[in-house]
Amino acid sequence: MDNYYDYAASTPVSQRVLDAMKPWENEKFANASSDHQAGRASALAIQQARECIAEKIRALPSEIIFTSGASEANNLALKGFTFKHLDTKGHIITSEIEHKCILNTCAFLESIGFEVTYLAPDRDGRISPSSLAAEIRSNTILISIHHVNNELGTIQPIKEFGAIAFENNIRFHTDAAQSFCKCDIDVDDMDIDMLSISGHKIYGPKGIGALYVRDARDSELVPLIHGGGQEAGLRGGTSPTPLIVGLAAAVESYPTKSDSIEKQFLDVIAKFDFTRNGGVSVVPSTWSVTFQTDKEVKRFMSDYPWLISQGSACNALSNVASHVLTAIGMSEETARRTYRISLPPHQISES
Ligand SMILES: *Cc1c(COP(=O)(O)O)cnc(C)c1O
Repeated sequence: MDNYYDYAASTPVSQRVLDAMKPWENEKFANASSDHQAGRASALAIQQARECIAEKIRALPSEIIFTSGASEANNLALKGFTFKHLDTKGHIITSEIEHKCILNTCAFLESIGFEVTYLAPDRDGRISPSSLAAEIRSNTILISIHHVNNELGTIQPIKEFGAIAFENNIRFHTDAAQSFCKCDIDVDDMDIDMLSISGHKIYGPKGIGALYVRDARDSELVPLIHGGGQEAGLRGGTSPTPLIVGLAAAVESYPTKSDSIEKQFLDVIAKFDFTRNGGVSVVPSTWSVTFQTDKEVKRFMSDYPWLISQGSACNALSNVASHVLTAIGMSEETARRTYRISLPPHQISES
């Protein structure tokens, strides 16, 4: 698919990842919980994958809980944590421009009695630390703000959010599906208590992700899937060895540099009248582009019939302007001229 520019929605599985996964699909299929040689080989492969992912964010291997993806990781972080507080309830702070899986989980938590504050971004899509500090209440139990925005590419000041949460003894969760491997993450330095990642945004397989949970074994999380004690008792179900091995292989083989695609893209987009949204602190692979006129949109679409999204993939099927574009103050009319062009992601030097 050489006209595919929707990598923020999903990436292909790289050849190295496929090669790493293959033996665990057939030859070495044993259940990692089985107490025999083949089972122990699976368990060891999973342990090595856990170490690889932990090291990437400077966590401990025991703090990595494998899930089916970032949506499940986000659900486990928010519901798993708040379900410990069902009797007293409490207050949660998030933002208006989270991924739908965070916003819909928050709406559900409101429906059962929790209070939620949705912080508004500025016109660049940045959430300010002072706006977070201003909303903290005596009963605030959790802050959940993403790291990199999936529609704009904007990098949020999560280290400042973490410091505010730490000072106030509030747990801090971040959805890092769009930043993991691109940006440097240090969960201690950034005071992050929980962090969500996804395989298929980093050239890994779909259907795998993880939640980092500080001190997972002693955490207050309530599992969403009760099972046979897998994943520190926080996520039941037979461990998908091939997917877990694939996730680690994706981390290990994540590209450090972009090839010439970014340069080619700049040459193309320079031929059009547009503004880029998302401010100055953005990841280089995600471009939210507003074309100046409908005519300019048409000219772009006919010259470059690329597979791109209006808003995010999740919004694309409904015909309303994306909640992210509305939140940064765009009119419906301007939002209609706005597209997300996302190039193959790679590590960026400084976040
Ligand atoms: C893709 C994405 C998700 C969902 O991840 P899945 O692994 O597909 O469930 C959540 N949050 C953000 C920011 C994303 O980009």
